[in-house]
Amino acid sequence: MSPKKIRKERIVVKVGTSTITNENGGLDIHQIDLLCRALSSIENLGYDLVLVSSGAIAVGAGKMRLAQKPKDLRLKQAAASVGQCELMHLYDKLFGEYGRLVGQILLDNDDVENPVRRENLQNTFDALLENHIIPIVNENDSVSHVEIESDQKLFSDNDMLSAIVAVFTGACKLIILSDIDGLYDKNPANNKDAKLISRVEKISDDIYALAEGSGSNRGTGGMITKLQAAELATSRGVDVLIINGKNMDNLYDIIDKKHVGTLFVAKE
Ligand code: ADP
Repeated sequence: MSPKKIRKERIVVKVGTSTITNENGGLDIHQIDLLCRALSSIENLGYDLVLVSSGAIAVGAGKMRLAQKPKDLRLKQAAASVGQCELMHLYDKLFGEYGRLVGQILLDNDDVENPVRRENLQNTFDALLENHIIPIVNENDSVSHVEIESDQKLFSDNDMLSAIVAVFTGACKLIILSDIDGLYDKNPANNKDAKLISRVEKISDDIYALAEGSGSNRGTGGMITKLQAAELATSRGVDVLIINGKNMDNLYDIIDKKHVGTLFVAKE
């Protein structure tokens, strides 16, 4: 993947399933509204934004009234297909309320690895952003079976996908919205005394040793996949922040250069 020139006004935001759905797997419309409002407001300041959004399978499963998150691949793909429509419908409507246009981009591995397809994709991103349209990206879960088979994830609940998108759109920052304030010195789900780490200069094995998998039944990647994503993005010059998506004011704070969450510092 050839990195593009870093553009200081370009930001990729990734939102995880646990931030935009409620305990029953339904969409948390209030939370999505706050997200759309914050991103629209930030775009008004002159930033180009790309949103990478998870959640299609959980939303589809809720809409199909499945008793639990589907385990069978065919049903997962069906749920992704139903949920992606619902998700985009809502983003289109809510961003529209704030005067913004959105475009959907569904990706699979070939789009990133095949040079011709990758160049097409880069052109699509550029054309959308030049026209002030917010690209909303997800893995193409309804056809891309490798990602949703849990032991062989390509993009790992979109954490890695968001890093790849940040690199090839030339973003200066990747902001990962999670259900937790950032990286802690141990998994806060099991350790009440865990302490937030505010800045990481190098993602070493010692840093990986702090991270465990997901603490909720809605999240999937946990902190490990976020570190892998941060390692890729920082190595290509992109600053990565992990912040708590339950408080969308964190997004405004980042733009105001206040320190929130964990910052993984980009290599020169
Ligand atoms: P999301 O939907 O936000 O991607 P995940 O469940 O995939 O949610 O990832 C966040 C979870 O990772 C946290 O809620 C926490 O339980 C877990 N986790 C594991 N190790 C750590 C750590 N060292 N610091 C913070 N969170 C951790």
